[in-house]
Amino acid sequence: MLKGKKWIAVLTMLLFAVALTFLARENENAKRQEAWSRTVADSGYEDEEPYKGKIALTFDDGPHPVCTPQLLDGLKKRDVQVTFFVTGQNVESYPDIVKRASEEGHLIGNHTFHHVQLTAANSDEFKKEIISTNDIIQEVTGKETSFIRPPYGSWDKKYEKELNMFPVLWDVDPLDWCSTNVDKVVRNVLSHTKENSIILMHDSYDSTVTAALQIVDILKAEGYEFVTVDEILFD
Ligand SMILES: [Zn+2]
Repeated sequence: MLKGKKWIAVLTMLLFAVALTFLARENENAKRQEAWSRTVADSGYEDEEPYKGKIALTFDDGPHPVCTPQLLDGLKKRDVQVTFFVTGQNVESYPDIVKRASEEGHLIGNHTFHHVQLTAANSDEFKKEIISTNDIIQEVTGKETSFIRPPYGSWDKKYEKELNMFPVLWDVDPLDWCSTNVDKVVRNVLSHTKENSIILMHDSYDSTVTAALQIVDILKAEGYEFVTVDEILFD
């Protein structure tokens, strides 16, 4: 029989051996995990997040001669399609930009000819504004549009039947037109966007173009899919 002190020594050695085996195994597991992560990273799956749903970026008041082509270049690189609600007068001034946007898969919608707000007194004028803008969009892109973003959100449901126009409002408004702070605009959009969000921006500002492309990169990596508004409204 072993005496008390020897027992303690043997037990200590045994525990030490068990601990060593355990540590060795843990080390092995850690190495395996590291190797696995490296394989996954190499295969490009590392950043893929689960699918979070569709969202739509929309740009009002354009096209702008400088900012819109810059935005189109960035969107093309990222293979992302958005919706532009253009004014008829800007289509008249920059038809090639609208044609290009349409050809690259973006949806072109109506934002009235002269950016007119519907009031109780201008119903007839407003109707003409919609029709003339539809006409010029069709002339330039070869496609009919049935989507309108009424300036300031003022709308009358009667036009939906009368003119076969569908109003497109928004649920995320980062107020990009009153701030040149790109980070602020990006943060605002990130904190309010969820599945099926329609984000309102304006392609007439450098800061908006920079912010929009950052938003695309971040939300795509988070698992969102960017689509044109028709895919959110009618799917
Ligand atoms: Zn507007």
